[in-house]
Amino acid sequence: MKSSKKQRNILLQKADFKKRVVKYAKQIDIPLKSISVRPMSRKWASCSTAGNLNFNSELLKMPKKLGDYVIVHELLHFHVSNHGKLWKSLMRAYLGDYEKLEKRLSKY
Ligand SMILES: [Zn+2]
Repeated sequence: MKSSKKQRNILLQKADFKKRVVKYAKQIDIPLKSISVRPMSRKWASCSTAGNLNFNSELLKMPKKLGDYVIVHELLHFHVSNHGKLWKSLMRAYLGDYEKLEKRLSKY
């Protein structure tokens, strides 16, 4: 009983996370093909030019803001492949003080 409830919670968290990805993808104007949330080692997310996005399921256990950081970070790479001036100003436009989030994320 307990584990099935936990399982349900994880599914709900995943659905919520994906919703946030879709929301940001619309704002940033990125046509997404698929989103998956699964265990990954050494990475928070990855994307392919074909529009497939993968997120580390560890993000589900972390504060929402940090998840948003990873989502926007990855989505912006569809437009800008580096972390240059344009990417930075877009990060600021969507997330505000993103450098603070970057710092917090680096502690995980
Ligand atoms: Zn990056």
